[in-house]
Amino acid sequence: MSPEVETEALTRRGLMLVLSSPSGAGKTTISRALLEEDEGLVMSVSATTRARRPGEDEGRDYYFVEPVDFNLMINRDELLEYAKVFNHYYGTPRAPVEKALSEGHDILFDIDWQGTQQLAQKSGDDLVSIFILPPSTAALEKRLKTRAQDSAEVIAQRMSKASEEISHWREYDYVVVNKDVDQCLAEVKAILKAERLRTQRRAGLIDFVSRLREGY
Ligand code: 5GP
Repeated sequence: MSPEVETEALTRRGLMLVLSSPSGAGKTTISRALLEEDEGLVMSVSATTRARRPGEDEGRDYYFVEPVDFNLMINRDELLEYAKVFNHYYGTPRAPVEKALSEGHDILFDIDWQGTQQLAQKSGDDLVSIFILPPSTAALEKRLKTRAQDSAEVIAQRMSKASEEISHWREYDYVVVNKDVDQCLAEVKAILKAERLRTQRRAGLIDFVSRLREGY
């Protein structure tokens, strides 16, 4: 890491970047690309009671847990937020988020609108939320089908849920339309870049500006 990056990371409050979208709008692709290109960003890995899909890894995509263990996590207050989505529970483990923020990292969350509302209540100013829209309903259905990870029944269920998820778009700070993945990624990166420069996050500037004003 260059000295500039290190200084920047240490003198700025970490932010929590939330990406939400209906299932199949390309959020996973965008998240992976962001994480690959940006070493200051770490992913929050959720716990879920749903079954693992082919190609998914324990601890990378999710922590796959039994309902009884998910309940224990709730009761022990180990989740920062949680919600029921498509008949399964999904939640954000609290400890890794607190650790990453205290180390000056920014954290990326792939969570639904219910989780975003909970984080907004708890973490207000640290939260930056982006809603990703598909360019059309047909494109969404095509992506769900070509993903080929779910049964026809699950795909139909996800399509009917999409409209409900989309109805929450106004609750987000930003909305991007994923017509072209490169353009969508560029827009998300621009949002992140600008949000990192927000005055209120840049605690290190207080000293810097004092020194400037003293003539250094
Ligand atoms: P999938 O089963 O396709 O991986 O995810 C289904 C939905 O659950 C997605 O909209 C995803 O953003 C959401 N989700 C995943 N993890 C969490 C979480 O920890 N909390 C909440 N509230 N939603 C989540």
